[in-house]
Amino acid sequence: MLKLDISTNDDINDDNFKVYKSSLENSQDIIILLNLYGKIVYVNKKSLEYYGYSKDEFLSINICKLRNIHNNSTDMDKHIKNTENKRIEFQTVHYKKDGSSFPAEISCVRVNHNSEILILNIIKDITDTIEKEEEMQLLASILENSDDAIISKTLDGIITSWNRGAELIYGYNKDEIIGKSISILLPEESKEDIFLILDKVKNNIKINHYETLRVNKDGKKLFISISVSPIYNSNKDVIGAYTIARNITGKVSRERELRDKYEELTSIYEELTATEEELRTNYIELGKAKTEAENANAAKSQFLANMSHEIRTPLNGIIGAVELLNLMNLSKDEQPYIKILKNSSKHLLNIINNILDISKIESGNIDVSIKVFDFKNMMDRLIKEISFACTNKQLEFTYFIDPLIPHKIAGDELKLKQVLINLFNNAIKFTDKGSIMLKVKLQSQLNEKIILKFCIKDTGIGIKNKFQKNIFKKFTQQDISYNKYYAGTGLGLSISKELVKIMNGDIWFESTEDKGSTFYFTSQFLLDFSESAYNSSNNLNTNITFSLSKSDKTILIVEDNDINMKITCDMLKKLGYNYICAYNGKQALELLETNNVDLILMDVQMPELNGLDTTKIIRKNEIHNKSHIPIVAMTAYSMSGDREICIESGMDDYIAKPFSIRTIRTITEKFLR
Ligand code: ADP
Repeated sequence: MLKLDISTNDDINDDNFKVYKSSLENSQDIIILLNLYGKIVYVNKKSLEYYGYSKDEFLSINICKLRNIHNNSTDMDKHIKNTENKRIEFQTVHYKKDGSSFPAEISCVRVNHNSEILILNIIKDITDTIEKEEEMQLLASILENSDDAIISKTLDGIITSWNRGAELIYGYNKDEIIGKSISILLPEESKEDIFLILDKVKNNIKINHYETLRVNKDGKKLFISISVSPIYNSNKDVIGAYTIARNITGKVSRERELRDKYEELTSIYEELTATEEELRTNYIELGKAKTEAENANAAKSQFLANMSHEIRTPLNGIIGAVELLNLMNLSKDEQPYIKILKNSSKHLLNIINNILDISKIESGNIDVSIKVFDFKNMMDRLIKEISFACTNKQLEFTYFIDPLIPHKIAGDELKLKQVLINLFNNAIKFTDKGSIMLKVKLQSQLNEKIILKFCIKDTGIGIKNKFQKNIFKKFTQQDISYNKYYAGTGLGLSISKELVKIMNGDIWFESTEDKGSTFYFTSQFLLDFSESAYNSSNNLNTNITFSLSKSDKTILIVEDNDINMKITCDMLKKLGYNYICAYNGKQALELLETNNVDLILMDVQMPELNGLDTTKIIRKNEIHNKSHIPIVAMTAYSMSGDREICIESGMDDYIAKPFSIRTIRTITEKFLR
């Protein structure tokens, strides 16, 4: 680097110039000498390298060329003139031979050379300096505008700089805080930590992301994360510290909230786990209870079936005996008692039938049995019975049966009849004056399926609003006072509802207290006319008259119960048939060997050899003699499946005890005609 003292014009004279010529030549600075007109008179080596001109080219141009301005420009004159009394410095742009430019810092001073006044120009390319300055400015503006607080302080804690972020976080502006101690920002509980921090900084230790408390101008405590680094002087001595601080109050409170939430969730989770455990235990217990309940229910159904068998057997005796007595010539005094006996036993039978039906439904032992039947015929018989009952109560009875309904349809005739009878019994029972009306309509027909809609309307006592929702529940009756007056079990409607469901239908009602009720139900039938043998026999006349004409047919009665045996014998006698009796299966087989029998009425449960096994033996024997004696089961069991069991064993039909003389007549006519 050229070391010239060029502070005054006089310091460099001709002799001096010579002395320094070699230094000038080899200087790392660009050195150009001009005359007072700006003409270049000397350039050093560096100039040649830098600008790309040869020495001769340089010596033929004016300095204006390097600045890309016109010769004699006033700007040039000004600079040259200014060197009159002093050294001048200025910045400009210089152009190289290739047209590229650079920012140049020019230092000019007048020198005397061979009595000529020349101007010595020392030229520096200041591209790097300018870039650095711009970089510094950028950094300064980043620091100034950062959202983080950037603060510098002396090692005694006196604040020396304060940016906009610090102002935002702590609330103080630059003017009021610079020169004050940093302790102004420290709350009581962290007063000491600044001295510990500064001690570390003095020992050249940086602190990163230290979380602590500070206080702002309003006295509000803030959670702050700070990083502190030493500030060095040019000798690398630590002379202060700068802090970058970030307000983490929001983050800390969010973390706290999250921690609280987490703890809350943990405790909910624990509670849930405990509840789940409890539920699992309850579930297991419920499972056990369910199994126990199912077992109990099965036992109950079995008990009901057994009970009904036990009750039906003597009831068969009572009803049969009453029927037979009724056919005798009784005195006037005796007749009311027979009537009481007849009504009471029928009522008892009704109760037992209902209980049995419910137990069948509850145990799932009820199936739909689809057979072709004569709908018109069935309705005619029912209408006769209803008309009779209505006349007895002096009620008017009207009916309408849709003529579009085919006479023969397939469905469960018995279930349909049972629902109709239940609804009519109620209508008649709960109506003391007025009328009963029946309407049957063909609601819809799709392919072979038809839906019939039945409507039974009465003008009776009606059903109170509050009771209406309970009407289809088991053992439910409107109120106790009525119960005393109107007999019943409260089972009829719940049975009807289940039966209608089985027949793919629905049941509902409308009722107004003291005005009357209308019950509706629908059920589905088929138009499949495959005749069944069972159906064709079912052709009862309501006004039954018993033929006393002698028949040449012989019926074998197999029955172990004396009373039932007597009743059945008497009924057959009344109907004019011959009969022979066996008290168990074995006796029956013996009698068959010596007698011509046209029909067997066979009890199922008997000692020694039961009805099912006896039948099997009879059927086996028949294979040899190619004959077939019809066998009809008489059983007090009437659970679902009984009929199938009897048929499977080889029997031809089935009648449930207690049976009436009409049933006996139907069955004998069916097989002996
Ligand atoms: P039950 O007739 O044997 O009591 P139901 O289940 O058939 O049992 O009927 C339940 C109750 O619904 C009856 O006791 C009666 O209170 C009421 N009920 C049913 N049908 C009618 C009706 N047509 N008119 C008034 N009340 C009725």
